[in-house]
Amino acid sequence: MNNLNALGRMAGRFGTTDKMPVLFLGHGSPMNAIEENEFVRGFRSIAEKLPHPNAILCISAHWFTRGTKVTAMQMPRTIHDFSGFPKELFAVQYPAKGSPELAQETKTLLNPTAVELDEKWGLDHGAWSVIKHLYPKADIPVVQLSIDYTQAPEYHFKLAQQLQALRRKGILIIGSGNIVHNLGLVDFANMHKDNYGFDWAVESREKINGWLTDGNFDPLIHYYKQSQAIQLAIPTPDHFLPLIYTLGLKEKQESLSLFNDKLLAGSLSMTSVKIA
Ligand code: ZN
Repeated sequence: MNNLNALGRMAGRFGTTDKMPVLFLGHGSPMNAIEENEFVRGFRSIAEKLPHPNAILCISAHWFTRGTKVTAMQMPRTIHDFSGFPKELFAVQYPAKGSPELAQETKTLLNPTAVELDEKWGLDHGAWSVIKHLYPKADIPVVQLSIDYTQAPEYHFKLAQQLQALRRKGILIIGSGNIVHNLGLVDFANMHKDNYGFDWAVESREKINGWLTDGNFDPLIHYYKQSQAIQLAIPTPDHFLPLIYTLGLKEKQESLSLFNDKLLAGSLSMTSVKIA
C-alpha cells in the first residue's frame, strides 16, 4: 500500500502543464557565475519571461560519459570542475535539490537506451554557473543528463526528441555549452573587447546563426562536414552537443530566437537560444 501511494505521488508529481520553452545557454568562463556582465543580465532577463518550472533537466558540456547517466540523488553537490580560478568561485554553492522522480521519468522516456541512475555526480559548472542566474534562490530542483561520448550527433538529436513529453510536465530543459568554442586559440589579451572574434569565428557565427534561425538543422547535426572555419569553431563535440539536444526538442511550429549573441576573446561565442 505504501509503495502504491509512493507510485501515485510520483506519477502526480509533474502534472500536465503548458509546454515549457527549451533553452541553450552559452556558459563561457566559469567566472560568469560570480561576475556581473551583459551575459548574466541576459540570462536573468530570459528567466523573467519563463513560466515557473517544476524542475530543470540540464545537458551540460561538462558531463561526458560512456553511456547515458542521469543524476538521481536528493541533494546534488556543487562540483567545482575547473582550476586556476579565484577562491570566491570555489566558495560558490548552488544548493538546488535533485529530483529522483525526474531522473526516473527521464530514464523511462529514453527507453530502450539504457540510462544509469547516478548517485555520484551532482551539478557541474556547466549547470550551476548559469542556472544560478536564472533561479538565484536555488528553489527549482535540478537534474543533469550526461552526454554519451561514444555516440554521433545524429544519435543525440534523436535521443533529445524522446524527452519532448517532459516539456508538458513543467520541465525546463537546458542545454549548456558554447557554439563557438576553441579554448586553444583564446586571445587572453583581448578578453574584454566587445563582440570580438577572429575571422573564422565571425564567419562561423554568421553561418550557424543563419541555419538556426532558418530552422535548417541538418548542417548543424553534420557540423563536422562543414567548412574549415566551422572546424575551428567546433574542434571538439563537447560544447556543441548540448545545442543539438536543444534543437532536437523544437517542434515545427515553434519559433527560435537568439540572445547573448556575441563573440568573445576571439575564439568563443556566448550565443544562446530560446525555443518556444
Ligand atoms: Zn564549458
